[in-house]
Parts: sequence; structure tokens; C-alpha cells
Amino acid sequence: MKCIVCVKQVPDTSGVVAVKEDGTMDRAAMATITNHDDLAAVEAALRIKDATGCKVVVISMGPPPAEGMLRELLAMGADEAVLVSAREFGGSDTYATSQILAAAIKKVGVDSDDIVFCGRQAIDGDTAQVGPQIAEKLNLPQVSYVAEIKVEDKAVTVKRLLEDGYMTIKVQTPCLLTCVKELNEARYMSVGGIMECYQKPLEVYNYETLKDDPLIDVDTIGLKGSPTNVYKSFSPPVKGAGMMMEGADKATVEKLVSILNDKHII
Ligand SMILES: Cc1cc2nc3c(=O)[nH]c(=O)nc-3n(C[C@H](O)[C@H](O)[C@H](O)COP(=O)(O)OP(=O)(O)OC[C@H]3O[C@@H](n4cnc5c(N)ncnc54)[C@H](O)[C@@H]3O)c2cc1C
Repeated sequence: MKCIVCVKQVPDTSGVVAVKEDGTMDRAAMATITNHDDLAAVEAALRIKDATGCKVVVISMGPPPAEGMLRELLAMGADEAVLVSAREFGGSDTYATSQILAAAIKKVGVDSDDIVFCGRQAIDGDTAQVGPQIAEKLNLPQVSYVAEIKVEDKAVTVKRLLEDGYMTIKVQTPCLLTCVKELNEARYMSVGGIMECYQKPLEVYNYETLKDDPLIDVDTIGLKGSPTNVYKSFSPPVKGAGMMMEGADKATVEKLVSILNDKHII
């Protein structure tokens, strides 16, 4: 058995979001972090490794500096890392990204008792589409919003987070799970892990490595292979000053309710 985890390096949007004069996000001016949901997915895989001794492979598609993040995941306990990186892959939307990641996962190999993990959503693109699209392309059953995992023999029982509760689902392996950050608290890198991480295998899959896969075609990857293109990006307008209302009587409350009603807030 092995766990394959897709991990994205993202700009840290929790602090000041740097915006260029033309309104696009200034990624170079922002620190990069490992996407939170993906860290939960890595931790889930490492806990399965602790319990079963299985192998954990982490995969990231991104520019060469993403190698630093992959080394950190190796230092946390992952066994192997794959960096999917090539000029041909640049400009991919979620469809093209999932084509490329699915081809990379196929190259790693999915056995009958394996689990593929993704985060639910990346904090920069925010679409939550890549995991489910990879599952479709690999023909794997999928469960999204995973908040608890129990591995049995060739099956996984998961608690799926809903808006107002949970759903328990049993799914056969091989399968794909997308994890929410509430699933667990990720461990730190260990000192031993940091020493070992440079000896662990880190492979780079470029266009040459993946080009023979039927999923990889000029019409299905990169900017040209993306059915969607970002036409314009801009910062949302800054909210105006708040409205103050005074009084604690019925009329004031009714006025407040009617304002909220008009704005479709209630
Ligand atoms: C219309 C459109 C056009 C775009 N055009 C461009 C462009 O021109 N240039 C550009 O750089 N980007 C572009 N992007 C962004 C790019 O598509 C996304 O970065 C990428 O598809 C991931 O989508 P997401 O961030 O919404 O991830 P989600 O779907 O929210 O991610 C879900 C999970 O999938 C996995 N995952 C996602 N991306 C990766 C990855 N790269 N490596 C490993 N695992 C991953 C992670 O586990 C993650 O938690 C575009 C996006 C859209 C919607």
C-alpha cells in the first residue's frame, strides 16, 4: 500500500496581500507556504504510514523553487517526492493542471490498495476542482471534504464534512480523498528528518517524462490546452464607511431589518 499526496505551494494570503499597479497579485513579493488543506492530507498519509508502514509519495506541480517545500515534506516523514515542472505546463487552468497531475500519478503508479490524497482547496486559486478532476481522469472513486479517516483492508471509512453535519462513507481502494484542514494538526519536521531529507529520492517529471501519456497533449495542457483563460483580474472595490444606527426601540429594529432585507443579507 502507498499514499500519494498532491501538494501545492501557494502565496501566503493571510498577511498583507501584495497587489501590483495593474491590479494583479504580486506573487514575488509574498512569502510562499504549503497549502493548509494539503498539509492535513500529508499528515493523514503519515499517520497511515505510522500505523501500517506504507510508503508516502508527495507530488507538486510548480516552478523549481517548489523543491524546497517538497524537501520539508520529506523531512516530516514522506518517503519520496516528485516535482512536476516544465515550461509546457505553465498557464494551465484546473482542467490542464489535473491532466498533468493525473499523468504524473499514473507514472508513480496506483496499486489496488493505494490512496491518492489532495487538499480540498488551494488558498490562491480557490476552485476546489483539481482533486475531483484528477479522480475522474484516473477513474477513481472520490470522497471530498474528508474530516476523519479509518483505513481497513482495501477500504477506507471517512467522515465527510457537510455544512450542517457529517456523512460517513465507506470507499474501496484505490480511491482519492480531498482533505480539509480540520482533519488533523500537521507534525513538525524532525531534526533527524531534516538530516535525512536530502538523501531521500526527489524526481523531476518534465514534459519529456510525461509526454507519452495520452493525457498529455498540446491541446490538453498549458495555456493552449486550458479551456478557461483569466481575462482580467482586479482587486474588489474597498467597502465604504459603515452606517451607524441609534436607538433600541421597535422602529429602529424594523428599519435595520428592512435595510438588511434590501441588501439581500437576510
Ligand atoms: C480560469 C483559470 C485560468 C488560469 N490560468 C492560469 C495561468 O494562466 N497561469 C497560472 O499559473 N495559473 C493559472 N491558473 C491557476 C491554476 O489553474 C491553478 O493554480 C491550478 O489549476 C490549481 O487550481 P486551484 O489553485 O484552484 O486548486 P484547487 O482545485 O483549489 O486545489 C485542490 C487541491 O488540488 C491539489 N493541487 C492543486 N494544484 C496543485 C499543484 N499545482 N500541484 C500539486 N497539487 C495541486 C492540492 O492538493 C489542492 O489542495 C488559472 C486558473 C483558472 C481558474
